[in-house]
Amino acid sequence: MAGTRFAYVRKFELPDPLLPGTFILLRLDGHSFHRFSDTHGFSKPNDSRALELMDHAARSLMEEYSDIVLGFGESDEYSFLLRKTATLYNRRRSKITSTLCSLFTALYVMHWPAYFPDVPLRYAPSFDARIVLYPSVREIRDYFSWRQADTHINNLYNTAFWALVQQGGKTTKEAHETLRGTVSSQKHEILFSQFGINYNALPSQFRKGSVLVWEKTSIPYNPSNCSASQVLDGENETDANDQEGQEKGASTRITLLHCDIIGDEFWNRRPYILK
Ligand code: ATP
Ligand code: ATP
Ligand code: MG
Ligand code: MG
Ligand code: MG
Ligand code: MG
Ligand code: MG
Repeated sequence: MAGTRFAYVRKFELPDPLLPGTFILLRLDGHSFHRFSDTHGFSKPNDSRALELMDHAARSLMEEYSDIVLGFGESDEYSFLLRKTATLYNRRRSKITSTLCSLFTALYVMHWPAYFPDVPLRYAPSFDARIVLYPSVREIRDYFSWRQADTHINNLYNTAFWALVQQGGKTTKEAHETLRGTVSSQKHEILFSQFGINYNALPSQFRKGSVLVWEKTSIPYNPSNCSASQVLDGENETDANDQEGQEKGASTRITLLHCDIIGDEFWNRRPYILK
């Protein structure tokens, strides 16, 4: 086919290689999920089914693409870090962005019925995706800190907002007005004094987001329930990924954590992520 007089149009397809030796950060975000979550009756402020479906799609994506060394999810978004030595699709930007985004979307749809057995999909969801290149460890650490700080800020706001609406009987407009201009400590105070909610006691799944990382672990693997079986809840890491586990470790597999990734501990324990 290459020889036809039409073939010159191919030359308009310009190469789009990603700079070698740089960290590749891919972020996906649900398109109009405010509407999608309303249409499908997500519970507010946090629907665990929806978060766990995102985690499942992300885990499967990482199983398919071994260049992804870390995932971080919150709300309708997921970030994936690809190692800087990745040669996936010759580092072609569009090829990587479009293929990974469409696989994630397909996985989300494929696994939907397992998480929402009583809620038929009313329309097809979609995700946007972008790649950002970062030159050094400093930016990668700051990137993930940025996303986890965002998780915290949004979750504190949303928790206070929905408490005012669901338990305080306010309209959404009144709740927004009550919270306008408040700082973090005032939101904690509203939650505690008016609703008896200790924010810090809420599930870390909501406060910290989801971290997916390759790990040697001795936790028994249950493929029929892969998203739930490997959750290590809590901000403090448990012995499943301690030094001993690393050494004895039967196999390397993806582990879901809801832990702090802003401090040094998470990274110091896993030097292989930023290698
Ligand atoms: P855009 O297309 O610009 O991303 P969007 O409507 O998806 O628009 P986002 O800023 O991405 O806006 O916010 C996603 C919204 O989806 C949240 O504000 C929330 O309303 C809803 N949402 C996503 N995940 C959940 C969840 N697990 N539980 C409850 N609501 C959720
Ligand atoms: P790449 O990931 O680089 O696109 P590819 O295997 O998808 O690799 P393409 O050049 O896109 O390669 O070719 C798609 C191939 O899929 C076709 O060569 C053909 O073998 C197969 N295919 C696609 N659609 C059909 C169809 N309707 N009937 C039969 N075969 C099909
Ligand atoms: Mg957006
Ligand atoms: Mg969105
Ligand atoms: Mg979003
Ligand atoms: Mg083709
Ligand atoms: Mg093809």
